[in-house]
Amino acid sequence: MRIGFGYDVHRLVEGRKLILGGVEIPFSLGLLGHSDADVLTHALMDALLGAAALGDIGKHFPDHDPKYKDISSLLLLGEVNKLLKQKGYSLNNADLLIVAEKPKLAPFMDKIGINMAKALGVEIDKINIKATTTEGLGFAGTGAGMAAHAVVTICN
Ligand code: MG
Repeated sequence: MRIGFGYDVHRLVEGRKLILGGVEIPFSLGLLGHSDADVLTHALMDALLGAAALGDIGKHFPDHDPKYKDISSLLLLGEVNKLLKQKGYSLNNADLLIVAEKPKLAPFMDKIGINMAKALGVEIDKINIKATTTEGLGFAGTGAGMAAHAVVTICN
């Protein structure tokens, strides 16, 4: 059994879609980034890579590579899954946390979980997704950005 941890932050701006776990969420702002800026999926990818001692997402999917411009991060999650499989690892469980003041994410959690489970080829009950606000404090609290944390265990 191995443990991995991931953390990511993206800025919220006008003129971008808000994508979390591959779900487009209706909101006036979206996350800024080279890919679709799916902060939650990025944290999960980093946790998986970390657990397998495979570095981080910047190493595998550099944000200066035009190939990854606006790409769906769920596709990249599938690529990370392949890398883990090559080393003989599979996901045991993942616990994910989105830190955002707005919008309300509860209606989208099930769909996000389904998307991630599909991308990783695991049962839905291996993935737990939570959301919290920061009571108006810090960059997430003011709505300047969103953060995501991920902890995973993998086994072989
Ligand atoms: Mg990121």
